[in-house]
Amino acid sequence: MESQKYLQRIEDNKSLILDAERYIWKNPETGFKEWKTHSYLKDAFEKLGLTTHSFDRIPASVAIQSAENGQDRFFEKIPGFYVDFDTGRPGPRIAVFGEMDALIIPNHPECDSQTGAVHSCGHHAQCAALLGVAIGLTAPNALDGLSGSIRLIAVPAEEGIEIDFRNSLQKEGVIRYHHGKKELIWRGLMDDVDLAFMIHTVSGDKLTCGTGSNGCIVKKFTFIGRSAHAAEPEEGTNALYAANLAISAANALRETFVEKDTIRFHPIITCGGTSVNAIPDCVTVESYVRGAELNTYLEINKKINRAFAASAASIGCRLRINDLCGSSPRHNNKMLTSVFADAALPILGNDRIDMNRPWGTACSDFGDISHIMPASHLFIGGAAGMAHGSDYYIANPELSCVTSAKIQVSAVVSLLENGAEKAKTIVTENPPLFASVREFLSVLDKVDSNHEAVFYHKNGDVTLSLETK
Ligand SMILES: [Zn+2]
Ligand SMILES: [Zn+2]
Repeated sequence: MESQKYLQRIEDNKSLILDAERYIWKNPETGFKEWKTHSYLKDAFEKLGLTTHSFDRIPASVAIQSAENGQDRFFEKIPGFYVDFDTGRPGPRIAVFGEMDALIIPNHPECDSQTGAVHSCGHHAQCAALLGVAIGLTAPNALDGLSGSIRLIAVPAEEGIEIDFRNSLQKEGVIRYHHGKKELIWRGLMDDVDLAFMIHTVSGDKLTCGTGSNGCIVKKFTFIGRSAHAAEPEEGTNALYAANLAISAANALRETFVEKDTIRFHPIITCGGTSVNAIPDCVTVESYVRGAELNTYLEINKKINRAFAASAASIGCRLRINDLCGSSPRHNNKMLTSVFADAALPILGNDRIDMNRPWGTACSDFGDISHIMPASHLFIGGAAGMAHGSDYYIANPELSCVTSAKIQVSAVVSLLENGAEKAKTIVTENPPLFASVREFLSVLDKVDSNHEAVFYHKNGDVTLSLETK
């Protein structure tokens, strides 16, 4: 592998990368609001002489779904953009992601004083590293000897937060999906991409990867009872007790969960009543159902919905179940991951590479990408504190951003040199889990539902509706 010229250029320009890390850390923005981040990065990419493309106009040549009628596709504006590097020689296209969104952690000492936003998941370091990848790929004669192409994508909204805000964006027709990567899949931006990767920041000093991690369904239950004076509870229908029963019923189901499915159900009561001297008539419970395999956790989800509906019925409450397809399980591609292990070896040394991490139970919308093409989501050290916590920060930006960029460029070169031999082999030997993007999205769409779950009939019968659509 001849990657020295790329690495040298990254090293020579690392102040640009480290500046980006500082700027985005100081200007944290949550999903679908990352406009300052967008502007800063767009400007930095364009200063390298690159042409950036927003996501509101997807050329027919990019979105294969549109190619039949030769029409470009137009969408509402969202933050983020992509840049294509085309070698001019045929071969697979590799997508590289940098996530732009922050979290809301109001007690983090460096959070935005107005919004509480802070990069407690280190996505700003990914953005800086993505700029580093662009710097590497703009080295003199950078694309000589490579085949295929590279798409760098600054992507919004990985974290599944601010549900009401995203619901409103959906209602306004701005977005179709709550998560950025799924939105880009839907917009057609991944139609002509063959494999994908990204490196997320984590604590420690290693490059790591495992087999993958859970997917999830995002859930909201609304129990509706009847309010009454707390001293005359016989006049009311207690929605809080229905919710308590429901959580207990779901807990009783846990022994039916099989360990290999790594199911996680972690409900919280987000509204448990409003007045201590009134019977609660509206109680909301939110949770995810997480699991390793989509069809399995869909079945578990049905069981949980049944437990909740039956519990509501036992008290005489109505129940509304709102299920939203979260992230799909993430399946890291072994062959692609091993390319990273080889690429990182001269940079980090063997002791700082661990590609045998166990299956993870957290979720990422990168899982959606891994369902439609070979893909790997790796982690690199450099962070300190607890991810999503109030003490998180990037302690070693050189590692999280500069070294990360070097590893990513080295892997890209390895994949696309020699006629893109390695990339072609990975694509050929790893057919995606879904044959087409549309088929994949249609399966996910079946998860989304918002329906009444308990019906009381005049003759006294009660029926439960567990329909997910
Ligand atoms: Zn996160
Ligand atoms: Zn993250």
